[in-house]
Amino acid sequence: MIIFKTIKGINNFLDKYRKEEKIIGYVPTMGALHAGHVSLIENCKGNSDLTVCSIFVNPTQFNDQNDFDNYPQTIEKDIQLLYETGCDVLFLPSAAELYPANEILESYQLGFLETILEGKYRPGHFQGVCQVVNRLLKIVKPHRLFMGQKDYQQCMVISKLLELTNSTVHLIICPTVREESGLAKSSRNVRLSETDNSKATIIYQALLFAKDHISSIPILEIESKMKADLLRNGFDTIDYIAFCDAGSLTPITAYSSKDNVIVLIAATIKNVRLIDNLILN
Ligand code: AMP
Repeated sequence: MIIFKTIKGINNFLDKYRKEEKIIGYVPTMGALHAGHVSLIENCKGNSDLTVCSIFVNPTQFNDQNDFDNYPQTIEKDIQLLYETGCDVLFLPSAAELYPANEILESYQLGFLETILEGKYRPGHFQGVCQVVNRLLKIVKPHRLFMGQKDYQQCMVISKLLELTNSTVHLIICPTVREESGLAKSSRNVRLSETDNSKATIIYQALLFAKDHISSIPILEIESKMKADLLRNGFDTIDYIAFCDAGSLTPITAYSSKDNVIVLIAATIKNVRLIDNLILN
């Protein structure tokens, strides 16, 4: 695996592959890598000639400075894991490299998508995501981009970004990887105590409850049972439990078998905010 820290360095290297018309696959991450990231790298390896990963904790997508300051950083372990997974190229830019001083940040017309769910609870978050992903895409110029369903709304935002920028990059959404308990793997899980990690599995159980009962119990009733279960199991706050159309993320209040429904959750346990989702049919 070759590591680059500068745009010039990675560009010179990738140019050779571009000229040979090799398929470049790309996995952007913020590090603190786990099995979810590894599955993206493996998917990328299976669908590309060259696998590029980047690690950059992007300051512009954090609406909470404390969350940014406490974001886990495990770079030595990450490099080892990527090497063992067979990643070809790792891009490790500095903030100065990605965000040159005096450069004006672009604003993206994301519309409805950034007014709901994560967009509502983390103002400016998706603008920051688009700013960094657009910059990284211009540098790596991949053919294929691999992202996780765990961040479902983010996948939809990136799909919108690709549309807004007339990009030909093909977005491939990979399934959520979970711990044996069902808890979705997340870099933030390391901030959970053993007890809270075990309590947090209620999120997945609640998602499964929704899947099992969507056609037999009214959505409002399912939602209030899920809320009660989360709060009873140690969650301090619930930002949302939302039943939405999986294609548009518009809310669904009454289920019809023709609907393609996704349920999405964001909730906080002991200052650790977790998100997860499940497609119900
Ligand atoms: P992050 O490092 O959290 O920015 O995530 C980088 C990429 O990994 C994003 O596309 C995430 O959706 C994806 N990812 C994070 N957790 C998981 C997971 N448990 N399963 C699959 N993909 C994931």
